[in-house]
Amino acid sequence: MATASFRSGAVGRGGVKADTITNRTSSINSAPKSSFKSKSSAPPQNSGLRRNSTGSVATSTKERGGVSGRVRVAVRLRPRNAEEMVADTDFADCVELQPELKRLNLRRNNWDTDTYEFDEVLTEFASQKRVYEAVAKPVVENVLDGYNGTVMAYGQTGTGKTYTLGRLGEEDTADRGIMVRAMEDILAEISLVTETVSVSYLQLYMESIQDLLDPANGNVSIVEDPKTGDISLPGATVMEIRDQKSFLDLLQLGEAHRIAANTILNTESSRSHAILMVHVKRSVKGRDSALSTEHGPSHLAKTFKQPVVRRSKLAVVDLAGSERISKSGSEAHTLEEAKSINLSLTALGKCINALAENSNHVPVRDSKLTRLLRDSFGGTARTSLVITIGPSPRHRGETASTIMFGKRAMKVENMLKTKEEFDYKGLSRRLDIQLDKLIAEHESQQKAFQDEIERIAQEAQKRISEAERNHDVLLESERMKYEKEYLDAIQKLEQQWETSQGKHEKVGVNDSNNTEKFNQEPNDLGVTEDIAEIKRLLQNETLLRKAAEEEISDLKNQIAQWQRSEARRNLDGGGTTELPSDLDSPLPLICQQLRDSEEEKASMEKLFEQVGLQKILSLLESEDADVRIHAVKVLANLAAEVTNQVKIVKAGGLTSLLAILRSSSDETIHRVAAGALANLAMNETNQELIMSQGGIRLLSVTATNAQDPQTLRMVAGAIANLCGNDKLQIKLRGEGGIRALVGMVKCKHPDVLAQVARGIANFAKCESRAYIQGTKSGKSLLIEDGAMPWIIQNASNEASHIRRHIELALCHIAQHEVNAKDMISGGALWELVRISRNCSREDIRTLAYHTLTSSKSFQAELKRLRVDYG
Ligand code: ADP
Ligand code: MG
Repeated sequence: MATASFRSGAVGRGGVKADTITNRTSSINSAPKSSFKSKSSAPPQNSGLRRNSTGSVATSTKERGGVSGRVRVAVRLRPRNAEEMVADTDFADCVELQPELKRLNLRRNNWDTDTYEFDEVLTEFASQKRVYEAVAKPVVENVLDGYNGTVMAYGQTGTGKTYTLGRLGEEDTADRGIMVRAMEDILAEISLVTETVSVSYLQLYMESIQDLLDPANGNVSIVEDPKTGDISLPGATVMEIRDQKSFLDLLQLGEAHRIAANTILNTESSRSHAILMVHVKRSVKGRDSALSTEHGPSHLAKTFKQPVVRRSKLAVVDLAGSERISKSGSEAHTLEEAKSINLSLTALGKCINALAENSNHVPVRDSKLTRLLRDSFGGTARTSLVITIGPSPRHRGETASTIMFGKRAMKVENMLKTKEEFDYKGLSRRLDIQLDKLIAEHESQQKAFQDEIERIAQEAQKRISEAERNHDVLLESERMKYEKEYLDAIQKLEQQWETSQGKHEKVGVNDSNNTEKFNQEPNDLGVTEDIAEIKRLLQNETLLRKAAEEEISDLKNQIAQWQRSEARRNLDGGGTTELPSDLDSPLPLICQQLRDSEEEKASMEKLFEQVGLQKILSLLESEDADVRIHAVKVLANLAAEVTNQVKIVKAGGLTSLLAILRSSSDETIHRVAAGALANLAMNETNQELIMSQGGIRLLSVTATNAQDPQTLRMVAGAIANLCGNDKLQIKLRGEGGIRALVGMVKCKHPDVLAQVARGIANFAKCESRAYIQGTKSGKSLLIEDGAMPWIIQNASNEASHIRRHIELALCHIAQHEVNAKDMISGGALWELVRISRNCSREDIRTLAYHTLTSSKSFQAELKRLRVDYG
């Protein structure tokens, strides 16, 4: 039947018929069925679509800056309602749908049917979901891609326009209409962080636009951009949508306001157009700036993405009922009013006709609706129209008119375009944030930089001072090193020179023996030199003599002083004795030691008187140790008196003392006997006696075994006295006297050191005399026996009496050229220089000076060391 009616379509009203056939052809030829349903996010691809039936030239699919997109039309059939169930019970529906062929058969009469093809044919059983997907979803997807979109419902009142678009589905979610489902899809797709969706909800009634979100705003004006022709409603409330709930609330609010407004206006919602405007603002991510890649440096292209936003609009339009005014609009309004009510709808029809017929003039400006929907028909929007029809044969006329409207709309071709704009605000915001970040970064970097500079400066200062310190230390050690190297080198050269000199001398001696004649002249020179040498020695000898005389007179004074005090003490019958402070002389040394008390001394004198010397000496051999000790003490005490000394020696006391020293192991006996010997050793004859009886060896052994510093002091004093004997020099040294003396310095007691120093000075004095007398020629025995290091070491001893002895000794030794080399190598030269400059005793100072200036060796050394002296 459907096929038959399709074929029979050639008969009847030509206009309709022609449309029908042409539409069929165009649809079949040019519109792939899938394209309407396609979920493409790309612009619709309707290649080769004809603009209209009469247009002979097929336009290209893609024109410059846009994609052609025909207005899509779906037809939806409402099921019979209760009233129709009853009223039309005996009549068949006026329409029959063939959804698989996308065909609609409209019964013309009992035997004739017109067939129309649509983009989508939705039966009375079609679910809301299916309707949404077929009609609106492709448009919503395009809107999300930045295209404008329109979804519009056209049809007679009561056929389901509002049902299709505006159901909220609160009771049954399956009932949700296109508005709700569209918003769901939009909210699911966009990012609310960077993108926004906002809505306006308006009602158009009698050419006046009411804001359904703000009922007080009853006349929203349309503003047209003179440049682009874009339409906007700046007076309309725009609410941003954050979630579905807020959107549903908004729709409900809008609906409530619509009912209230219509009550005031005394009309029905079917007479007004409801328009929901959904504004979507999306950012286009990651798009490189065409400018930067083409004209700018490549690195800019990487960093600078042109901030672009895409603004798109979805208009969902629930049109007023399409029934003819005469039929439904004349009851409560005048004809003028009725005309005004449907002015917009009429204008829309006219515009669509004009567009469908490719007319030159499209009367867009005739109504507010056509102005508002300017972009939806013949514009840049993707438009989808759903025409709603009822099944009742009673409304067949209206249904046919609706179908014709849909068919004409199908011919309207739009040119889809996206609109992108540079997001100045977004860019400015982003740049502000970036700028703030950079400023903060810069500030902290600057701070860090300053800190770093400060740190580096401090570090540098530290390193400089450290380097300076190191440099000083290094310089000092270098200096010392070079000084040492210098001295060593000079010494080495000196030795080499001496060796070669020795050879030379040997040769010289041979020469003089063999060739006397030729050496006449050199011999004369030699004599002159000898004379000078003798003169020099004489001069030194004189000075030494003077020093010795001074020392002797010193000693004499001391003795006299002591004797005076002794006499006074004896007269007083036992007052305390004022001992001379100078301990150089042996006598006070021993007296101080032995006179433990005046009482003891008195008893001893008495004993000497009563018992006699012989008896005392015999007591030295007593069995009783105490008696022996006592006897030694008595003897020693007696020996302190010069007058007693001869008597004691004559009586064999010296021999007895040596014997007891040899036999006893008692330290007290050692100390006292050594003291007695020291006193006896003041006398030259006694000295010889002590020596001949092996006294030196005995004293050396005593010194080796002694622990008590006072014993050592006595021994050192005895040896020191012996050192002053010219005749005994060789023997004293031969029996280890000097070594014993030097050995005793281990005991650092100043009293011991003083005696050692005195002994050395005495020995040096005698040796010096021997040199002059010609009985001595070799190196000083003091040097030979290793006394020199100690001498040098103590040349500046703090104790003046020690220092003076050593200074004298040094001067004596230095008198003789043969000692010079050892003295220089040992460091004595500097001590001599010091003595010659600093010594408190003038005679010693002068002696040192003369010694230095008259010695060739010292002079040479001083010259070599570049010491300005003399
Ligand atoms: P219009 O808005 O076109 O005047 P409505 O949407 O108000 O028409 O629909 C009129 C009546 O028909 C409503 O009661 C509605 O529930 C019902 N109706 C419309 N379309 C359908 C449909 N497809 N299925 C079931 N009921 C429908
Ligand atoms: Mg309605």
